[in-house]
Amino acid sequence: MNRSTAEDARVCFPLLADPEDYRPDTLDMVSDPAVRAYWLDVFEHHTRSLTRRAVQSDPRPDAAGRAAACAERFDAMIQRLRIEPEALGPLSILVLCDLRTRCLTEFDFDDPYRPMKQTENDAAMRLLPEVLRELDAHRGDELLLTLVRGIFAGNIFDMGAGSTVGLYERGELDFFKVRTGLPDRPWCVDDFDALAARWANHRYRKAVMFIDNAGADFVLGMLPLARHLLQRGLDVVITANTRPALNDVIHSELVELIDRIARIETTFADALDAGQLMLVPSGNHLPVIDLSKVSPQLAAASRDADLLIIEGMGRALETNFHAEFTCDTLKLAMIKEDNVAEYLGGKLYDVVCRFDPVG
Ligand code: MG
Repeated sequence: MNRSTAEDARVCFPLLADPEDYRPDTLDMVSDPAVRAYWLDVFEHHTRSLTRRAVQSDPRPDAAGRAAACAERFDAMIQRLRIEPEALGPLSILVLCDLRTRCLTEFDFDDPYRPMKQTENDAAMRLLPEVLRELDAHRGDELLLTLVRGIFAGNIFDMGAGSTVGLYERGELDFFKVRTGLPDRPWCVDDFDALAARWANHRYRKAVMFIDNAGADFVLGMLPLARHLLQRGLDVVITANTRPALNDVIHSELVELIDRIARIETTFADALDAGQLMLVPSGNHLPVIDLSKVSPQLAAASRDADLLIIEGMGRALETNFHAEFTCDTLKLAMIKEDNVAEYLGGKLYDVVCRFDPVG
């Protein structure tokens, strides 16, 4: 098997309860014209900020020309899909995300958000010691709540959602301010009490964590949770995209970040040495995820897990919100699109803590 074939091999995620009937998409873009129009607008409007990032990330002199051609190609497809929604098969957010990635690849843009991800990772790393110190002052339910609220606050750093791109570009995304301004409970979906009860009385062995965005989202949100799980003695698998999608962490960046963090935080250094912490590429290249197609490494590492944590609007709400698993599952996300808010009966910037225990 050659290298690219090996990298592209996909298998079904082994913790799916019903792989035969698994459908990743939550929203129905096929039979609901209003939903379809909403998302075609989202993708069309997003092209401007995406192509600006593409040009900024690419020092070659023809970058602006390629970015313009890429935007034109993508826009033409969006206009075609407005008239012929079935042109690429049943339309979904997965299909639109994949189309966008294909356009970028065709015009030789590999990772338009790489510089931004690096800047945001560095900024978040500077705040990490303060966040960890604060967490260490909490115990029990209060600690768990602080961890969950940190994940919600970090998850606002999302360059795929129209509402948050503007906030970011105006410099209005401050982790601590966002966390202070989170909605009061009960949240849009609020299973926190059930989660806290289970957390207090159950001894988990191994967690798999699907992470989302770079910067505050991973470093100040998911990473402190990973640390907490390691301190509780769990084996932890952190899985990130294999290839770039917007400002999502990719596996190579995850490895680098954990290496940096392990130098200042011994929990991670010890866990890496002991094989308690594993970092695996998910096989994914989109900001949403189809769990019928993950990397064989992720499948192998996940098989014996008894806790699954899926974070972010793309992976936990727009896809997989209704997916059921064979182990306890926690889905955490901030809502950053009106259509998702409407579907869940909430508001923009409301948050979701969905916990589905088994047995
Ligand atoms: Mg993302």
